[in-house]
Amino acid sequence: MENIRVIEKTGKESGKTVAVMAGVHGNEVCGINAFNKLIPSLKLDKGKAIFIYANLEAIKQNKRFVECNLNRCFLKKQPRDVKDTLEGKTAVQIMKRLDQVDALLDVHASNSVDSVPFVIGEKITWEYSKVMPFKIISFNWAEFEKGATDEYMNDQGKAGICIECGYVLDPKGQERAETSILNFLKKAGLIKGDVKETKDQKIFKIVDLYKNKNESFKKARDFADFEYLNKKTLIGYEGKKEVFAEKGSHIIFVRDRQELNQECFVLAKELKL
Ligand SMILES: [Zn+2]
Repeated sequence: MENIRVIEKTGKESGKTVAVMAGVHGNEVCGINAFNKLIPSLKLDKGKAIFIYANLEAIKQNKRFVECNLNRCFLKKQPRDVKDTLEGKTAVQIMKRLDQVDALLDVHASNSVDSVPFVIGEKITWEYSKVMPFKIISFNWAEFEKGATDEYMNDQGKAGICIECGYVLDPKGQERAETSILNFLKKAGLIKGDVKETKDQKIFKIVDLYKNKNESFKKARDFADFEYLNKKTLIGYEGKKEVFAEKGSHIIFVRDRQELNQECFVLAKELKL
């Protein structure tokens, strides 16, 4: 049984072929809800759009994933422990589709209530990033995390953009997802009409990702995503060891971790254009 559901829409005129994905993490429902709302009445002027519900079993179970994180499985050569999992096989199905498209938008959300919405995009996605309804654009994730959908596209010289729509149960998250999907289709030329660039976007380069190698990790306090560290700051404890971040970075995704080798927090630097 296929673990994806694909819906194709085609315009009357020829144009680009793009993919839009939701459910890569099955419990990030705002993308799935946006799909359910937009797709039935959506009409394209040009080209083709492929909408992919990406992990049906995880969506059904309302879980992030079933066996392993699907958004680390988009690798031409999957490691053995990934290959045989549900998500490993699902990524193979999806990669066949992605190989046939010119650009990708992948819709995500966060399970933490105070999360800040942002775009993950590289230089190659810039024209799309600029029209996403988000104030924050981040890049350089692929240096620290392998196997994401956006990186899979970028590595082939194609635009792969990922949006983090904010807290999963915030109705604004679904609105952001809907606007992003429509703006993406407009920018790709599949729907006629102008699309405005978002004003005052801030750009952050991901500069470090901390994993707990030896012991469990516990955060020292709550941090707002993209909080600026105006001095050297205690972020948390790996076992008894204090873990600091230097002054001048912004911190994202600080999480307690029991298992080893997990992503505990991420550091970013703001780029002034
Ligand atoms: Zn996600």
